[in-house]
Amino acid sequence: MKKFYQDKTDNLKISYEIFPPKNDTSSSKTKQLLEELNKLKQFKPSLISVTYGAGGSNREKSLDIVKLLLKNFETIIMPHFTCICSSKDYINNYLKEIQSLNITNILALRGDEPQDINVCYKDFTYAWQLVDFIHNQSDLNIAVAGYPEGHPRAKNLACDIENLKKKIDMGGNIIFTQLFFDNDFYYKFCELCAKENINVPIIPGVLPITNFSQLERMTSMCGATLPKGLIEHFEKYKDSEEDIQKAGIEYATNQCRKLIEFGVGGLHFYTLNKSHSTSEVLKNIL
Ligand code: FAD
Repeated sequence: MKKFYQDKTDNLKISYEIFPPKNDTSSSKTKQLLEELNKLKQFKPSLISVTYGAGGSNREKSLDIVKLLLKNFETIIMPHFTCICSSKDYINNYLKEIQSLNITNILALRGDEPQDINVCYKDFTYAWQLVDFIHNQSDLNIAVAGYPEGHPRAKNLACDIENLKKKIDMGGNIIFTQLFFDNDFYYKFCELCAKENINVPIIPGVLPITNFSQLERMTSMCGATLPKGLIEHFEKYKDSEEDIQKAGIEYATNQCRKLIEFGVGGLHFYTLNKSHSTSEVLKNIL
């Protein structure tokens, strides 16, 4: 079975996260997305992952994009899947469908709790239950989410890592992290995971910043700390969009170089469906 990490060479694995554009697959946004991904092909990605809307709100679109990417790219396509508002039956059908498409990898998530949790099925409360379910129902390679600064709702980082351990014990075999801008959180996180006997690859999530308001929105959503050095770095450039993009490329390049020195097996880029910044960072580091 085609697994993301089956190739045991020392080559750094590159992967991209994209999200399904709002309109249908024939829309201009989808065409643009394919063009952007085509520009990133030269870096030989090992995997492209496709997000799944909160509470499954863009279920069909997510799968439509997965199908389109399968037709257009030879690399592994990994759908994200959230369980918080799904029934076991729904998930079973979903698993059958993706396996019929020869998908071999899935990112198993709980998803954010919707404001009205009562509208949800009660089959799954946490991602470890989904991992357990998928592991028992399929032979898919299961990726899970990790949070170097702790999940925003977790009691503390130690409890969150205990939960992560459970996801791995239930069958998770690779971790993709939440984005972060201070590598020290990632290094410490890897150390704590090793202490808990979490011995699977921990792939850091990297977001090359392209604008300031996006930065504020993303960090307030996911709880990533903005280090003082980063704010100072961007202050110098904040009057021009083009300069901010350059500063973002410079910052992410340094971040990636240090992560490579640390010995990461791969880098997962939050592309936000755009190729330019990711492409420039990759040209700098490869
Ligand atoms: P879990 O691992 O279940 O953790 C959720 C919370 O519950 C944590 O605070 C954890 O510490 C706590 N917890 C877990 N088990 C227990 C327990 N037994 N007792 C007490 N507390 C417990 N969201 C989307 O909607 N769509 C996406 O496509 C998507 N992609 C993502 C990709 C990555 C790489 C990452 C890092 C996140 C992504 N998310 C996505 C966000 C994710 O769905 C949210 O962060 C969600 O709130 C948690 O999902 P999880 O799978 O990490 O949940």
